[in-house]
Amino acid sequence: MTEQSPTSGPITDGPADPEHDTTAAYALDRSYVAALTRRVVSSSGRTHAVFSPIGGAPLAHVPQSTPADVAGAFARARTAQAAWAATSLDDRAAALLRLHDLLLDRQEELIDLVVWESGKARKDAYLEVAHLALTARYYARTAHEHLDTRRVGGMFPLLTRAEVHRVPKGVVGIISPWNYPLSMALCDGLPALLAGNAVVAKPDAQTMLTALLAAQLLDEAGFPPELWQVVAGPGPEIGGAVVGAADYVCFTGSTATGRLIARQCGDRLIGCSLELGGKNPMLVLRDADVHRAADGAVRGVFANAGQLCVSMERLFVADQVYDRFVDAFVSRTRAMTLGASHDWTVDMGSLISQAQLDTVAAHVEDAVAKGATVLCGGTARPDLGPFVFEPTVLEGVTADMECFARETFGPVVALYRFHSEDEAVARANDGTYGLNASIYTRDAARGRALARRIRCGTVNVNEPYGATFGSLGAPMGGMRESGTGRRQGAEGVLRYTEAQSVATQRLVPIAPMFGMSEENHAKVMTGALRLLDKLGRA
Ligand code: NAD
Repeated sequence: MTEQSPTSGPITDGPADPEHDTTAAYALDRSYVAALTRRVVSSSGRTHAVFSPIGGAPLAHVPQSTPADVAGAFARARTAQAAWAATSLDDRAAALLRLHDLLLDRQEELIDLVVWESGKARKDAYLEVAHLALTARYYARTAHEHLDTRRVGGMFPLLTRAEVHRVPKGVVGIISPWNYPLSMALCDGLPALLAGNAVVAKPDAQTMLTALLAAQLLDEAGFPPELWQVVAGPGPEIGGAVVGAADYVCFTGSTATGRLIARQCGDRLIGCSLELGGKNPMLVLRDADVHRAADGAVRGVFANAGQLCVSMERLFVADQVYDRFVDAFVSRTRAMTLGASHDWTVDMGSLISQAQLDTVAAHVEDAVAKGATVLCGGTARPDLGPFVFEPTVLEGVTADMECFARETFGPVVALYRFHSEDEAVARANDGTYGLNASIYTRDAARGRALARRIRCGTVNVNEPYGATFGSLGAPMGGMRESGTGRRQGAEGVLRYTEAQSVATQRLVPIAPMFGMSEENHAKVMTGALRLLDKLGRA
């Protein structure tokens, strides 16, 4: 995805303050937009025009940052971080709970802005609010469990006291994509703040306003404003400057960009977590409830118009239920309400940009040209919105087609028949990705056993993705080229800390004493080790 798409125009010397811009018919109140964009760290005088996928309405001229602005943002974040790290864990957790309440109270405003910027269905925007509220509550409630200093066994009982502290990394760089503009802007940052870090955030250019509203909510929840800096600009330049200055990087986006960032972090010897792409499989086993599986497939494939890292692009269906499943799935897909609007009744919204539409259309055209069959959908719907594409079900997809192994990141799925579960597992594990999978079966225990054989970071039984994604105690992330590191759970917060071990030795040194020779000391030590082992086995 480039950032120069019709929903995200080229960088211009246009007005940095939309309040005084009389040239465009803004879809949003200008003073509202101005209050949001003021939070971008920018001295360039340059702006980036953003238009809505809903009717192409102009939304904002977002001020752009320079590399010097990024350096300034890091300097201020460092100062704020030192004070923040000295606050109590309870105070930080309390701020998260205030944020939780603000998210729920202000959901209409948040959803409106997400829909304006992304063109997604309102129900998909609501899920962003719900996911963030869950994240805030989970980390607030488990703060002590994850971050308290822990006593561990010392070298010698009574003589050696050892404890492990969790020390914040410092300033975390968070680079986020456009597909879940609210959730992705904040969900990884909340545990970073809880652990005592500051953040410099670089959201995607197409969805800056939502990320800025999220930053405003952090301020209102009581986080010091300097603790969360927002910079804006092209990925390689401004994202690159963030990676160049951060103490740790959390990146969500494409595998191609993730690889570049991993190299940069490797050079700097800093850690990173990379949440990348997927080509996620769903398995419908022969004993599955076909209607439940078809409902799940509709949600799993077409949520957010398929622009969801954990959505399904490959459906493997057991021979015995294949025809019944396909009938149920295709008829449900045909019945979906499409649109680019703020209405709750839309089942599937718009794609975000012309670039996304082009990729989706190209994958479908390529598959059809090489012999695939379109069971439903397959065309763009400019009558509904500039970037609306029909939910599309393909059969007969083969390895020579673009959409066989490459992520489409749109509302397109391929159906495959399988004859044995071993075959289904092998085909699900085929390819380079390993993000998310789903298994439908009436025998949940068998589903869980099969899940252990799937090389994906998350596997959902009788649900496409929400069961793992909404279980905040469960780590979420990818195996293989879907990424490294995990968000959520203990891993999601511990990644932002260094483990610091402090051990205190009492009474005797770990060395020969009273003129004892090294040889005798080795004998005494060996005796002590044998004794400790015996006591441990007793
Ligand atoms: P992208 O990699 O093009 O952009 C993501 C972010 O990285 C943007 O903020 C962009 O400005 C920035 N960026 C781009 N080039 C950069 C560079 N050289 N250095 C630093 N930053 C740079 O991704 P995209 O195509 O916009 O997003 C869609 C992809 O994200 C899909 O592949 C999707 O699967 C993936 N994704 C993964 C998850 C997950 O949790 N695994 C979640 C959402 C999206």
